[in-house]
Amino acid sequence: MIFWHLGLTVLIVRYVFRDPKMDLRWILVGSLLPDVIDKPVGSIFFHDTFGSHRLVAHAVVFPIVLLAIVMVSTRRDTARRRGAIAVVIGCFIHLLLDGVWTSPETFLWPFFGFEFPRVAGSEFGTLVRSMLASPMVWLGEGVGAAYLLYLWRRHLTAPGDLRRFAGDGRVALRRV
Ligand SMILES: [Zn+2]
Repeated sequence: MIFWHLGLTVLIVRYVFRDPKMDLRWILVGSLLPDVIDKPVGSIFFHDTFGSHRLVAHAVVFPIVLLAIVMVSTRRDTARRRGAIAVVIGCFIHLLLDGVWTSPETFLWPFFGFEFPRVAGSEFGTLVRSMLASPMVWLGEGVGAAYLLYLWRRHLTAPGDLRRFAGDGRVALRRV
């Protein structure tokens, strides 16, 4: 799912953090990052080995390690650190929206061992076909896309708005 993650992650971030300086560009990147990493590895290139589309990047240890790397490799109060932390936040919310706690062996990897549980139907073609056939997936995509459309209509339609957003990733917080 793509718009489900993009839209709902931005919505949650705006409600929870209420930070007018939040760089939503990096939130958007983080919101898809676990899938961008795990799906090619587990569903396409090494499907025979792993047999799952949810691997290390879907474990809670992933955003935690990422955050530790960010804290030691960036300086306080810099745009670089703010952007990197936004990626971590996006990743963390991705795990919540995936409901990964329903698979504790993945969510708490490597606590239960280094193997990831194999997931039936996680081969890429099968996965895409089953998603396209799922009304819940379409509903989620619709909700996410509708929120992004609302945000754009509400905050980014004046001349120059989109160019400014492309530069700083900020969207006014008058209303979520
Ligand atoms: Zn995912």
